[in-house]
Amino acid sequence: MIKEYKNFINGNWVKSDSGKVFTDINPANSDDVIGKFQKSEKKDVIQAIESAKNAFPSYRAIPAPQRGKILLKAARIMESQAKDLSILLTREEGKPVHESEGEVKRAIQIFQFFGSEGWRLNGETIPSENPGMDLLTYREPLGVVALITPWNFPVCIPCWKMAPALVSGNTVVFKPASKTPLTGIRIAEILEEAGLPKGALNLVTGSGDVFGDEITANAAIKAISFTGSNKVGSELYQKAAGRMQKMQLEMGGKNPLIVLEDADIDKAVDYAIQGAFGGTGQKCTATSRVIVVDSICAKFTEKLVKETRKIKVGDGLDPANDMGPLVDQAQMNTVLKYIEAGKQDGAKLLFGGNMLAGPKYDRGYFIEPAVFSEVNPEMRIAREEIFGPVLALIKVGSVAEAVKTANDTAYGLSASVCAKDLTSVFKCIHEIEAGIIHVNSTTTGAEGQVPFGGMKKSSSGSREMGKAAIDFYTQLKTVYLNYN
Ligand code: NAP
Repeated sequence: MIKEYKNFINGNWVKSDSGKVFTDINPANSDDVIGKFQKSEKKDVIQAIESAKNAFPSYRAIPAPQRGKILLKAARIMESQAKDLSILLTREEGKPVHESEGEVKRAIQIFQFFGSEGWRLNGETIPSENPGMDLLTYREPLGVVALITPWNFPVCIPCWKMAPALVSGNTVVFKPASKTPLTGIRIAEILEEAGLPKGALNLVTGSGDVFGDEITANAAIKAISFTGSNKVGSELYQKAAGRMQKMQLEMGGKNPLIVLEDADIDKAVDYAIQGAFGGTGQKCTATSRVIVVDSICAKFTEKLVKETRKIKVGDGLDPANDMGPLVDQAQMNTVLKYIEAGKQDGAKLLFGGNMLAGPKYDRGYFIEPAVFSEVNPEMRIAREEIFGPVLALIKVGSVAEAVKTANDTAYGLSASVCAKDLTSVFKCIHEIEAGIIHVNSTTTGAEGQVPFGGMKKSSSGSREMGKAAIDFYTQLKTVYLNYN
């Protein structure tokens, strides 16, 4: 019997008024049905918003350190459930279980970091030009905030939005991605168990369109934090513009890994493989372009193909596998379409790119990792986000050309440079247009205590995680205090 999961509104688990549900399946094995979920409609979203609105005055009145303690307790509960949550994450999203364990660990750290921020929700005192006057700032919550998250990090991303929102005193309406609703529900259950007051967090599952239309139209919503595709993010931005809601959009990437002449080639290959094929390439920070200088290109390419051949593709629940499936048929079609586009545009497919068939693969969405060489920056595989295990190798003649090529896309999320010479490293740090620069590491990975976000079309400009996240979820009030 397939279990039916409910929405979480005002502290109660309730069915949608629509009476409709949708199913969620394991992308590695279509026989494994994760559950049925509420196909929420406008009325459900309005109820969730009303619940958050009613809860706001009493929730914001709880001292920030007490709100933080709820997150710290949630961290402990999540830690006690880490194994089960990691397995669920692999069943729902497909990534290998060791990657799921890493994601859950990161979510725990995020709750710990923002839980502790409850003691540090400081304003400032600033000297006045006038005698007998003090100038102060207070950090205040915004009110009801709406959170929309994608399926590729369905534990971490909801946590890195909810934790700063809640510790700052906002109340939340949250819609997880429809491909991964159960991990979102588990997070809500953990916060409920940790003692979060009724109505502070509300969760509805179902269509992004229905949720997006209501939150951009409803006057109670003071801010929207969205992570997902550039297409949906920009539509949402335009819809919200009329009401001038505070918006945070974190979107796609086309992240380059630059390999310069003095790089440690073995390590650079390792970073390229982790960055390109970890999470089956379905990471916003995935390495999708390797920009290599001419003098070491042949050696790097040979080693890269040799190591890519060793990647074991299969069900992420089997610890022997290195790379899981794509998340669904639509994602697989997109990736296969780009592999064809690469061939048509004249790139050379050095390895992989085929759909995998056979008893291990037939009930999932498995493909081989793909490596293209002879890619030029005009090709579609060098410009557009693929969101799959496809790596494009671009040969360049100099550090300056490497930087120019790295910047030659609409995106600017993450980039990496592998090199020893400090002059070249600093040229890359200063001149690459990306919100996150890695030196001698992969383009992927994010720690909760530092800001995360992109430039150009990757982001609307604010930052998630670290103290910067608190800036988005709070507003400053300035007080002129004349004590004469
Ligand atoms: P998506 O299709 O844009 O969906 C993201 C979320 O938006 C889902 O919850 C989706 O709901 C919802 N949505 C869809 N249409 C909507 C609408 N009209 N109004 C409001 N919400 C709507 O993206 P995705 O395929 O899930 O995720 C992949 C993308 O996310 C990639 O581009 C990736 O680079 C990006 N990403 C960025 C970051 C970052 O931090 N920069 C991190 C991870 C992923 P449904 O699931 O119900 O459709």
